[in-house]
Amino acid sequence: MNDPFSKLKTAVWVYDIDNFCISWANEKALDLWEADSPEELRTRDFKVGSSDAVRSSLLDYQQAFRRGETRGEFWTFTPKDIVKKALLIMSGHVLKDGRMAMLCEALTLDLIPDMELVGSTVMMSSYQLDGTFISANPPFKEDIGSEDIRLDELIVMGSKLAQIYTSLESSGQFKGDVLCRRQGMEVWYHLDATLSSQDGVKKILIHQYNIHNRKLQERAFEKDSHTDLLTGLLNRRGLFDRLQSYRDEKKHFAIFYLDLDGFKMINDSFGHACGDQVLKSVSARLSATIFSKGHACRFGGDEFIWTCELDELPLPIDVLSEKLLNAVSHTFYGEFGVPMDVAASVGSAIYPQDGITTQEIISCADAAMYMAKRTGKRRAVCYRPGMEKENKRLGILAQNLSQAIKNRELSLHYQPIYHVGTNKIDSYEALIRWQCESLGYISADETIRIAESTGLIHSIENWVIRQALQDLKEFREGSDDSIRMSINISGLHLAQADFVSSLEEKIIQAGLTPQDVIVELTETALLDGIDDEDSNVNQLHKLGVGISIDDFGTGYSSLAYLHKIPADVVKIDKSFVEQVGKDSRTIDYIHRLISSLGKTTLVEGVETQEQKEIVQALGINLHQGYWFSRPQSLMFFKSQPISPRVIEIG
Ligand code: C2E
Ligand code: CA
Ligand code: CA
Repeated sequence: MNDPFSKLKTAVWVYDIDNFCISWANEKALDLWEADSPEELRTRDFKVGSSDAVRSSLLDYQQAFRRGETRGEFWTFTPKDIVKKALLIMSGHVLKDGRMAMLCEALTLDLIPDMELVGSTVMMSSYQLDGTFISANPPFKEDIGSEDIRLDELIVMGSKLAQIYTSLESSGQFKGDVLCRRQGMEVWYHLDATLSSQDGVKKILIHQYNIHNRKLQERAFEKDSHTDLLTGLLNRRGLFDRLQSYRDEKKHFAIFYLDLDGFKMINDSFGHACGDQVLKSVSARLSATIFSKGHACRFGGDEFIWTCELDELPLPIDVLSEKLLNAVSHTFYGEFGVPMDVAASVGSAIYPQDGITTQEIISCADAAMYMAKRTGKRRAVCYRPGMEKENKRLGILAQNLSQAIKNRELSLHYQPIYHVGTNKIDSYEALIRWQCESLGYISADETIRIAESTGLIHSIENWVIRQALQDLKEFREGSDDSIRMSINISGLHLAQADFVSSLEEKIIQAGLTPQDVIVELTETALLDGIDDEDSNVNQLHKLGVGISIDDFGTGYSSLAYLHKIPADVVKIDKSFVEQVGKDSRTIDYIHRLISSLGKTTLVEGVETQEQKEIVQALGINLHQGYWFSRPQSLMFFKSQPISPRVIEIG
């Protein structure tokens, strides 16, 4: 810049009040605003982050500038979250298009260190070293309301007085803002105290300036600038401040990072006002859970952080994480009583064990939270070293999975379910296989977890359904027409409003009937709609689709609810079969119960002949497991129509 303003030590700029932007600035102003370049500053949107109060004041000033007036005020700026103070001289500046802009000149504290004292009358007093009053000037007497006040009476806080004495002893002076007593009230002053020695007598001289209003404004600003306006919790800056204090005081602390699951959906479907209400309720529930310990912060849109000193933690970290999770995971009710389900994922990390800078420790908690989300949501996870790498892998998988159908990376393997009584295949279970181009073979469990956490589960299972129904027709060709197809369905997919009608449509399209299909669901998914006549499970049952309870015994082990679930088959989890050589009583008991409810028992994970025989002797006829056949492709079964094992059994 060649203009004369570039030489000025003060920051000068023109602010376009109507368009919330800076239209011109000198070099000093770039420094003040922490701008990388004049272009960056010119394109900065000052509407974002400015309060209504400031915007309204500026519009008032615009009027005043039109009348030829100017303004001078003490301002605090926070460009890029850095707090700066300056005396701001504001005047009118007419733009080319005739609009009134604001010409600003800022005198920062570094230019005039005592600027804040300008305009306030100096009060002077002197004391003996023990604090006994000696004398004062009239403004002091007038202001303080006393002609004889001891130093320890004047200064409110004993600790502040001790600090003043220490400073006087070490450097002969003290400067600072101090709360003093004044006519029965407590008022802020700036104190400039010196140790003076006249005629061999030492005494304390104090120059004192009333800064009460400025101090109150500053403190209010401090509070405002550290508080999230919507929830009243700390904001980011407030949190960073507290964490810095912990670190300065060498305290060890824990960070709990909460991120709401499903909040975006609430905002999108019910509107932002409703979203705000939910955020308020969440913070109230959070505040009530943290036992008034530590500090709670709204860290971003729907992200919250609670931090607490390790010594003050009321419970172990994993228990606290669960508590926070449960407190926040809740059904909120919007207008007309519309229920909105909110859940959270929680990640925790410990300072200094997991990270030594504030940013590092927050990133660790964030990584743990991300892992909780990736591995199924509504979970709490503690940080482990290496989690960032694992997150990265999961991120890549999530990205790849969205393209997997299109790129033909998914396929199905089928595992037969045998009826050992008739020696026939009752059905095939379809199991997903993913050969990911960048990361190789991914297990079915992981594929499904990623699909669930990314919301891809619906499209992936719809692909599974179509493919499996098509392949069922191939299986039937030239063999048994009664063979059925068993398809695993995630609870998330089952909960889709149109799940049943969409399945029915696919069955019809494939030229099959509902009776040809079995849906395998876990207990957790089945319990969801247990008391609802019209639940998707009940609709499925009415449609005539077979229902199988998968992995029975690993979830809620809901023996007590079993009679309410409209399932035809109960698949006892493979962990039970492993025990059967030593003790078969548990399986026997579960089988009797299942039979007494009119349902059929299926045992999965049969790996040996011994297991097969024990289970069969208990009267259980439906078997599935490596003993009979591993899951294989359609091609495999087509190339050897009769399984060797069936021949062996037969
Ligand atoms: P699952 O439904 O319990 O399926 C049985 C799993 O046990 C399969 O693992 C199968 O390969 C394995 N298995 C079968 N016989 C034996 C045996 O004798 N011993 C042992 N140790 N394991 C045996 P896979 O294929 O890795 O699938 C894992 C899980 O992934 C499945 O467990 C199922 O929950 C899920 N999954 C697979 N495909 C789908 C799908 O399309 N949708 C959903 N929601 N889940 C699926
Ligand atoms: Ca299954
Ligand atoms: Ca199973």
